[in-house]
Amino acid sequence: MKHFIFSLFFGLTVAIAQAAPAHVHGEARLEISVDREQLVITLESPLDSLLGFEHLPRDAGERQAVEGMAAKLKEVGKVLVPSAAAQCTSTGIELESPALGGKSEPGGHNDLDARYTWRCAKPEALRDVATGLFTDFPRLRRITVEFAGQQGQRAGRLDARNPRFSW
Ligand SMILES: [Zn+2]
Repeated sequence: MKHFIFSLFFGLTVAIAQAAPAHVHGEARLEISVDREQLVITLESPLDSLLGFEHLPRDAGERQAVEGMAAKLKEVGKVLVPSAAAQCTSTGIELESPALGGKSEPGGHNDLDARYTWRCAKPEALRDVATGLFTDFPRLRRITVEFAGQQGQRAGRLDARNPRFSW
């Protein structure tokens, strides 16, 4: 449902979004939306891009790997860094994945979904977001980005050499 609403909202970029396969190992997707002082970023990643496996954790070592992944994703100041001048304060982080409790997808290709929110004191200064995901998760090669805000809709791609999305 979330993605359905997002697609409607995105009108112009929906074709791009649909052209990009949703689950490609080594890749992930970020959706950035700015509504006045609120910044919302969702991350959708195959578990393989973050963990190197996608089955539900089977032993202590794999459970530890999953916990390590979740801990890194919760360090919002490293994972996603909005323009400093915008003075954004993190207001929430939600992680969702079968690996964190739940049922595996049929076929065993499982994702991690994360939702980050901020409130920005100077939203007019919010012009970009940098990500530390490539440093934290070396298996991750590329991130497809979609943006929606007062400046319109944009799409782009990030990699380790270009980890900042601007609008
Ligand atoms: Zn997979």
